[in-house]
Amino acid sequence: MTDIKSLTLTELERETERLGEKKFRAKQIYSWLHEKLADDFNRMTNLPGELREKLKQEYELTRLTLVQTQLSKLDGTCKFLFRLADGNVIESVLMKYRHGNSVCVSSQVGCRMGCRFCASTLEGLERGLKPSEMLDQIYQIQKWSGERVHNVVVMGTGEPLDNYDALLRFIELLTCEGGLHISQRNVTVSTCGIVPRMRQLADEKLQITLALSLHASSQEKRKSLMPVANKYSLPEVIDACRYYFEQTGRRITFEYSLVGGLNDTKEDADRLAALVKSLNCHVNLIPVNPIKERDYVQSEKQAIVNFKNNLEKSGINVTIRREMGRDIDGACGQLRKSYIDAEK
Ligand code: SAH
Repeated sequence: MTDIKSLTLTELERETERLGEKKFRAKQIYSWLHEKLADDFNRMTNLPGELREKLKQEYELTRLTLVQTQLSKLDGTCKFLFRLADGNVIESVLMKYRHGNSVCVSSQVGCRMGCRFCASTLEGLERGLKPSEMLDQIYQIQKWSGERVHNVVVMGTGEPLDNYDALLRFIELLTCEGGLHISQRNVTVSTCGIVPRMRQLADEKLQITLALSLHASSQEKRKSLMPVANKYSLPEVIDACRYYFEQTGRRITFEYSLVGGLNDTKEDADRLAALVKSLNCHVNLIPVNPIKERDYVQSEKQAIVNFKNNLEKSGINVTIRREMGRDIDGACGQLRKSYIDAEK
């Protein structure tokens, strides 16, 4: 059965035509799905009963089931564990900032990128998420909280550029006027650095922010943390970032997780500054969130501050990411991993 929540408005218009219905019905259905966030064809009360029956027979309506929430007492960050129709579970996060609510969505069930410090990759990749499954994380969270979602970051489990077509469709549906209509500028996609896909994304000329997970300023150190670095060298990755900026005019965000004694020295900072200096960019420092399966530790508080100061001295825009939800399974993939372990 066709997944109706993954269809664009134009495709839906073709579908209603095929069903022998008037074109305006497509807009109504689209609005029920993506604006009023209906989970059930029965709720679509301005459609004739006969059409609702037809829709039930012809289409699958994707809806995630909430399994568990974890609310941080520190800052109101909330983690959500959702079950998909095929029984897999995924996680999403709601973060409340002064400038609005931000949702971090997963793009895949598991991940095959193998970054050493990341919990999402420990069980490998199960499958990519459908556009509707990415969207419904936001829809269910908006309904749960009763508050509008302003920003979306694709930084949950999975490598979004390893699920490219679904990702693009997700962005189209998310930013479409007839749906939640989130501005492209309020959407960030984070990648470990799949170079050809980064270039392809640049050519789409969207106004979304591209975040690159850098984590090291030398090829050797990056390879020790991220297997993807065996495939694409640092200069290639940086070139792709430059290309993204040239094509879109959007400033690149570099994510850099600080690991104690591994990538947090003055030499690391100076090399990082030299690497990104010629780019219009922003560096986001993230104290690594230790996972029990690996023995990486956070950098000392002072080392983090020194690292930031060193970058600033070289004229780099840099922030230390405020750690949110440290009292819940905050790191990427930790909640899902502990749930799967418990199920076993
Ligand atoms: N696959 C994409 C998006 C998902 S990960 C990517 O690699 O960018 C989102 C960010 O969290 C990435 O920068 C990732 O490297 C980082 N991350 C994952 N696990 C982490 C951990 N335990 N501590 C700190 N950062 C982590």
